[in-house]
Amino acid sequence: MRKIYIPYAHAKSVYDIDVSFFLKEKVNTIFLDLDNTLDSYRQKTPTQKAVELKENLEKAGIQIYILSNNTGKRVKEYAEALGVKYVNSIGKPFASGIKRLLKNDNLKPENVMMIGDQLITDVAAANRAHLRIIYTEKLVKEDQPTTRFNRIFERPKKRRLIKKHLLREWEEI
Ligand SMILES: [Mg+2]
Repeated sequence: MRKIYIPYAHAKSVYDIDVSFFLKEKVNTIFLDLDNTLDSYRQKTPTQKAVELKENLEKAGIQIYILSNNTGKRVKEYAEALGVKYVNSIGKPFASGIKRLLKNDNLKPENVMMIGDQLITDVAAANRAHLRIIYTEKLVKEDQPTTRFNRIFERPKKRRLIKKHLLREWEEI
């Protein structure tokens, strides 16, 4: 099992994680995947649930960036409606876009945590950028076509993680 596919922890969904967990982990910035992590790719503007999540995190002093491989229009429309910073076409599974963002915005990697629903893109990119990542289950059944393709490679990797007890739940940390 390649180390880049091992997440820091697993959660059913971003909506399940207690804010206190992030505070305990000294997180002040979350790099959040958009499609099937925060909302369905068909959801153009944030759901009430997403808005509440953002507000609760903000109250605790935690800022969100949406980091998506999706295109400008999709990410811009959603992130601006939610009122968070964003980078589209971030280039996961590669880390260069993420590293650039850390540098440009003067963010300390030890205070940043990523959250995403794909091993192949999100988890690999986080590990390459030396960031902790919470790997989540997909929020809705339906993926967009490129993601459906990635899932073919993801499935055996996920099975191996489970078999080797490499997926620890966020509550266990
Ligand atoms: Mg995703």
